[in-house]
This record gives sequence, C-alpha cells and structure tokens, in this order.
Amino acid sequence: MGYFSLNLVPDPLAVLLPNGDIIDLNEPCARLAGEKREDLAGRHFSHVPPLSSLAEKISAALTSGREDFELLTADNKHFEVFILPFEAPDKTRFVRILMKDITNFVNLERELLKRNRELMMINTLSSAFMSSGSMDRVMENLLKKVLLITDFGVGMLLVKEEESLRLRACTGVSTELQRAIEEGLLDHLCAEALGRGEPLDIVDSSRLMQIRPLIKEGIVFMVAVPLVFEKDVIGFLLLAARSERERHFDFDFASLLSLLGNHISLIVDKIRLFEETKRLSITDGLTGLFNRRYLYSHLDNEIARINRYGGSCSVLLFDIDNFKALNDTYGHQSGDDVLREIALILREVSRETDIVVRYGGEEFIIILPNTYEEDARYLADRIRREVEQNIFLQNREGGASITISGGIASYPLNAPDARLLLNAADKALYAAKASGKNIVLCYKGVLHGKDLR
Ligand code: GH3
Ligand code: MG
Ligand code: MG
Repeated sequence: MGYFSLNLVPDPLAVLLPNGDIIDLNEPCARLAGEKREDLAGRHFSHVPPLSSLAEKISAALTSGREDFELLTADNKHFEVFILPFEAPDKTRFVRILMKDITNFVNLERELLKRNRELMMINTLSSAFMSSGSMDRVMENLLKKVLLITDFGVGMLLVKEEESLRLRACTGVSTELQRAIEEGLLDHLCAEALGRGEPLDIVDSSRLMQIRPLIKEGIVFMVAVPLVFEKDVIGFLLLAARSERERHFDFDFASLLSLLGNHISLIVDKIRLFEETKRLSITDGLTGLFNRRYLYSHLDNEIARINRYGGSCSVLLFDIDNFKALNDTYGHQSGDDVLREIALILREVSRETDIVVRYGGEEFIIILPNTYEEDARYLADRIRREVEQNIFLQNREGGASITISGGIASYPLNAPDARLLLNAADKALYAAKASGKNIVLCYKGVLHGKDLR
C-alpha cells in the first residue's frame, strides 16, 4: 500500500485492516476528515468522520466480506461510497472505502427537477391565459392554477387600477369577506408587503390577528407576493391557509413563489394591456364615449336579441345646433370642451344599460335597450332640455349656451335592420333641423309631420 498508489486515485480512498484500523488513506480522504494524513493512519475508522457515520455497513463488510454501497453527504459534497472488501494472498481481509464525489450530478439532478417543475408551472399558467372568455374569467382561472401549484386553499388576486387595488379574483372565502376585501380590507397589508421590498412577505398569525375578518374565517397564515412589472407594482397575489398545519416553507418553496409572482406579473400585465387596447379600440379619445365601431357591433347584438326574445330598442341621434358658429366664436379648443361637457350630460341622464356613442364630429347616438318609442321620446326630450339649460364654457365670461336637435327611431317599429334603423333616426333628425332646431322628433313624427315637443 504505497503512498503513491493511493494518491493516484482522485476520490477519497481509505484502506482498513480487519480490526477496522486505518492502514492507509489518500490526501483527499484526509482532507475530508479534516486532519493530517499521518495523524489518521493507524486510527480506528469509527473515530474518523465521515467514515464513522458508515460504521454499521463497514463493520458488516469487515466480518462478512460482502461489498456494500451507501450515499453520504459531507463537507457540502455528495458521495457515493463503495465499501469493497478484498483478501490479500495471505487471506487477510482488508476493506477499501472509495468515496466517489457525485456533487455535480446531484446538483444537476436537483436543477433539472426544479426546471421541470418551473416549466410545468409556466405551462399551467400560460394555459390559463389561453383559455378564452372574459378577462375576469382568465384571472379566476389563473388564481385557481396558482392554488393548485402551491397547494394553498385561499387566494386573492388584486390588480392596481389607477391608484387603487381592485379584487379581480378570489377563491376560498365567504362573500362577506370578499366584499370587505373589495372595500380595501387588505390594502394596508399589501402596502406593508411592498414596504419590505422583498419578493414575498410572510404574514404570520400575530400580524393577521389585527385583521379580524380574516381571523373570523379561520385564516392563520398568509403570503403576500407583490406583482411587479418593469419596476411598477401592478398588483398583489395573496395566498392564505386556514389551518395551523405547519407549512413546509423552505427556501425552494419561497423561490417557487417568487418565480410564480414573476410569471403572474407578466400575465396580469398582458391582461391589462389587452383590456386597455380593447377599451381604446371601442372608445372615443376626446369624450371617452363608445365609438362607431362599438355602436355597430352592439346594435347588431341588440337586434339579434330582440329577434330571439322579442321586445324593442330605440336609438336617439343628436346633433349640436350651429356648432360651426360656436367654433368660430370661441375657437376649436372650446368647441372640444363643449363636446366633452355634452358627453358628460348624456352619460348622466342616460341609464346604466344605455350605450352612449360619439357617432361623428358633433353627433351622438344613444342606444336604449328594452325601450319602446314612447319612453325613448321622453328621455330624448329630457336630454334636449338639460343641454338647453346648461351653461357651457363656464371658465369664460358669461359661458355659452347651446342647443341640440334629435331624431328617434325604434326597432322593429321603424326599420327591419340596424342600418335602416340608423337611417330612420337620421331622417327624423333632418326633419328636426328643418323644423327650426332645438327639437326632438320621432321617425313616425316625420312621417306624420307631427311636432312632438
Ligand atoms: P346644424 O345646426 O345644422 O347642425 O349646424 P352646424 O354648424 O352644427 O353644422 P354641422 O353639424 O354640419 O357641422 C358640424 C361642425 O362641427 C363642423 C365642424 O367644424 C365641427 N366639428 C366637428 N367635429 C369637431 C370636433 O371634434 N371638435 C370641434 N371643436 N368641432 C368639430
Ligand atoms: Mg353635424
Ligand atoms: Mg350640428
């Protein structure tokens, strides 16, 4: 057993006598034991770590002569240990102990497992986004998947809208608690989580104690994950547990959650972008009212609904009287201000379910679902009077007064389809202008030449 032969082996290697004393060992093995090689030779293996931790198997091998195998972690490294008895020509039985360093393999395997889990997670989350339907459904789906991945029973997804947080999805709580959260119950907790500047904030029961509605529902543990996109906080993912069942909250789980937070941020940002694009594509930039594109699709839907279930809908078409003159007197900017003010009045006077549209430059349409001509006439004239009585451009000396004219048409009373319905309203409006302005006429009124004021 020369020194050189043992040292030719790069992995830790020791040779034991039948009584368990170390007859020789190489430098890597001495390094692992943390002592000088000369000091270790002659010592019994049971006093030399990490060999001592294999005592049972080594002793068995010394007596039985059978090979054995063990996995060992020492000095932050992972080893595959081969316990290899052999007989000398004089029948003396020695045991070689060879420790193969497999740290790289173990790390690689762990990394692979982790990556695999992450990939699965990304797949799962992405499929939430791809499942079509409303964005609220997508958010709910997303939250459900997060709960599935993380094994939490309660979850909330709060998304920043303008300056406040809106609850977009919520699972596992009573409607009462949900309402409280919608009203800002957890805003403070979210602000605290953000203030910590960490990827996630573990809220223990002592902090939760201060939020009584949570305690009332038995929630004893919560993790708040701020959702950050390009340095902006776009929302919070809150995951909660009811039982005190000790959660296995190790480093791996924390990093999984923070990774999850990253992916959700990306998805939530896409949803926000999608919603914003959709909103922009159907709204008018100056007034914030719906635009023509939305009018057509909505009117088609409305008519299809009536064709199926019966009923009626009406459209009101308004045009500002002598608007050119107003532009000429006060300037185009002030003209724009008046358009915005009119939009506000139309919104205020109309009902929740009515659709208010900027139809053209200074023309507006309101679609009134479930409305017959009689009620449409009443609402139209109310709007006309509101505008007539309003003082516009109040930032200017004396302000300005304007009037509008309107035409009303109802489906199916006045036209068989959407295009002809708008035509009918236009004809009624034309008649209103012709009859002296500041008046609203029905299509029927046009036909009968009746002044409906
Ligand atoms: P009438 O009573 O017959 O409706 O007369 P009018 O002057 O309102 O005539 P008309 O409806 O044909 O003219 C529309 C005018 O509205 C023309 C244009 O200068 C103005 N206008 C259209 N769009 C805008 C806009 O976005 N901003 C401003 N300031 N003016 C607009
Ligand atoms: Mg016009
Ligand atoms: Mg006009």
